[in-house]
Amino acid sequence: MKLVLATNNPHKIEEIKSILSDLEVEILTPKDFDKFPELKEEGSTLEENAISKAMVTCQFTGLPSLADDTGLEVEALDGAPGVRSARFAGETATYDENNRKLLSLLEGLPKQKRNAVFRCVIAIAFAEQDVQTVEGRAEGTIVEKPRGRAGFGYDPLFYFPPLGRTFAELSPHEKNRVSHRAKALARAKELLVHKLSEGESNRRI
Ligand code: IMP
Repeated sequence: MKLVLATNNPHKIEEIKSILSDLEVEILTPKDFDKFPELKEEGSTLEENAISKAMVTCQFTGLPSLADDTGLEVEALDGAPGVRSARFAGETATYDENNRKLLSLLEGLPKQKRNAVFRCVIAIAFAEQDVQTVEGRAEGTIVEKPRGRAGFGYDPLFYFPPLGRTFAELSPHEKNRVSHRAKALARAKELLVHKLSEGESNRRI
């Protein structure tokens, strides 16, 4: 099976390739195609964005396609920044600007009111009428000051109780074992394994 990743982010491509390396799947990326369409994130939910990117890619390439969308949902902010995580402090906001906005909105709130969840939704479009989604979550709280230098985005603010550290205080290896994206990818892998075994049994019939 060929699978096109609907992303140009080299970190995501590496992570996905490594997780799927033991499957009989040839991974392609937008760079393997001429005039690849722009992948827009205009939906009002993570699901809508992941599905639309996977569908656009599947329609353009005629191949099974995988897309993801991730957001940080903060309970005290009714789920914000959520689908707007990348653009929380403005269309061209930096990670630092987004983090400062988040901290200022939560200023003075006690620890028990600072719950948050990272949610990653992955959509795989196997064909135009066959799109499936899976989700991975990591639950934690938002600290009062950034901690740690690893990772990216909201990692320095996201405290993960099971390991007693923020995501930015974890090594990449540690984060990749517990993160929302790793969990969603593990579930996406199950979908692919299932599809591959369906294909295998169809060939035998
Ligand atoms: P994307 O959908 O994966 O591009 O993520 C959208 C935004 O969510 C990013 O710009 C980051 O601000 C944030 N984000 C996604 N994944 C993570 C993560 O693992 N750690 C910290 N922030 C993240």
